[in-house]
Amino acid sequence: MRRLAVFLASSNGHDPAHAELAASVGTELARRGIGVVYGGGRRGLMGVMADSALKAGGEVIGVMPRSMVEREWAHEEVTELVICDSMHERKALMAEYADAFVALPGGLGTLEEIFEVSSWRQLGFHTKPVGFLDAGGFWTPLLGALRGIADSGFLSASTLEDLAIAPDLPGLLDVLDERLRSIPQPAHGESLR
Ligand code: AMP
Repeated sequence: MRRLAVFLASSNGHDPAHAELAASVGTELARRGIGVVYGGGRRGLMGVMADSALKAGGEVIGVMPRSMVEREWAHEEVTELVICDSMHERKALMAEYADAFVALPGGLGTLEEIFEVSSWRQLGFHTKPVGFLDAGGFWTPLLGALRGIADSGFLSASTLEDLAIAPDLPGLLDVLDERLRSIPQPAHGESLR
């Protein structure tokens, strides 16, 4: 894996453990030589992760719509700040740059981002794996809700199982790497889309 897209909160949350997690993820990705693709924010867990990855010498690519940059929400020190025109373009660019996607703790923005890439993978629009870093069981209630949706017949068991879930980053990267290795190679001249 060359680059990982990380979706995470633009705030810090109440529990300091979340910022500690974001910092450790930034450091560990840099240590492994995995570039970070994220929303480009300087606040909250987004900023904490970017700062720690940069401090550890990692590559950090931020992607942010111009209107948010104008509101001074962008991190000024990232390796590359890609300024785009809309949230739609932002997500498309992040999806293009990254080899896989993960969600760290976050709110509606994080949920929207991780669910979009999950549903696009389900539909076959891309083959990049998607995971939830379930540190401290943060995502466990949401994953329980998804299981309930699957039990109701609106989500297949295979789609649910396809989500990479682990309580720590090394475990999650192992599952994502496994998924990446099992991506079917297109026959000559054939597109997967
Ligand atoms: P959330 O999980 O709701 O905090 O959402 C994270 C996403 O919210 C980011 O990807 C941004 O699109 C957006 N966002 C909201 N407020 C900010 C902010 N102050 N700085 C950067 N991004 C923000």
